[in-house]
Amino acid sequence: MKKVIILGCTGSIGLNAIDVVRTHPDDFKIVALAAHRSKEKCEALAAEFGAKAYCGEDAAVRAVEENEADICLVSTVGMSGLKPTMAAIAKGMDIALATKEVMVMAGELVTKAAAARRVRFLPVDSEHSAIFQCTRVPNTAEIDKLILTASGGPFLDGPDDLSAVTPQAALNHPRWKMGPKVTVDSSTMMNKGFEILEARWLFDVPVKDIEVVVHPESIVHSLVTFRDGATLAQLSPPDMRVAIQYALSWPRRLPAERERLDLAKLGSLTFKYPDPVRFPCLRLVKEACEAGGCMTAVLAAADEWAVQAFLDERIKYTEIASSVERCLEHAPRFECDSLDAVWEANDWTWKFLSR
Ligand code: MG
Repeated sequence: MKKVIILGCTGSIGLNAIDVVRTHPDDFKIVALAAHRSKEKCEALAAEFGAKAYCGEDAAVRAVEENEADICLVSTVGMSGLKPTMAAIAKGMDIALATKEVMVMAGELVTKAAAARRVRFLPVDSEHSAIFQCTRVPNTAEIDKLILTASGGPFLDGPDDLSAVTPQAALNHPRWKMGPKVTVDSSTMMNKGFEILEARWLFDVPVKDIEVVVHPESIVHSLVTFRDGATLAQLSPPDMRVAIQYALSWPRRLPAERERLDLAKLGSLTFKYPDPVRFPCLRLVKEACEAGGCMTAVLAAADEWAVQAFLDERIKYTEIASSVERCLEHAPRFECDSLDAVWEANDWTWKFLSR
């Protein structure tokens, strides 16, 4: 029986994780649930599982600090995941990581802290779960490249002019039902850029060896090519519970009544390269990486600001990427040697964009 803490329990990942626990009551015990805003929902879920409920501003950190667990699912929104992740690492809990911004902001610091405490990261993102399942016990020397698949989001093939895109259109993802931040990030492909960074830190593979291929059907969740030329992929119908359950149950596989893959029924699967002009965010991610230091923290902060500004209709859709680009051009070089430096980069970015 694994003891589990779920941070962000009322979001789409959190609720799917709770569904996994509900169907495996002998395998998992939820000890604490945390939600930022949805207090009533969080308390109702906690009552169902006999767990403690934490709500409000520092709910996630308190849930970690005041409880003992084997694994902590971090599925909060955006940059708010960093502090509770560090707190869970300090307590020696394994981390089921859904909040990729943690790795974008502070991948090096977080992975170092985890290694020092012998804490394991279990990926919840479908792409990283796929890679994890294909590598199983990762020996990075044998990996030639990682291939992340991308659905391409709602604007893969149109409209030609993206500047008039509305929040409503950007929130209409064709394959996955997710929260607003990650849905907008998927539409700009910033989400895929973040996933490059997430893969870089989770699997210790350099960014130059991580590719992105658009695969609108979302059946192949990602692939690994090894140095002998063999490529392994993980396939399943798009259902985020597959990855969530594996993160919680690893190294075991538990049964689940879910749709099975029927390749003949699908008939064909399609793949193509992403359009670098239509999706400039992929380039921005690589530029932030090359710049080094805390520049990926600037990237994460700028994107968080810009997505919110777009959803509030303060900036146009195309200004999400241009706002991020302006930050990368003007940000001072923050050495990324501490969490304070990460927050300093974050503060600089918000001040710069809010002027
Ligand atoms: Mg993903």
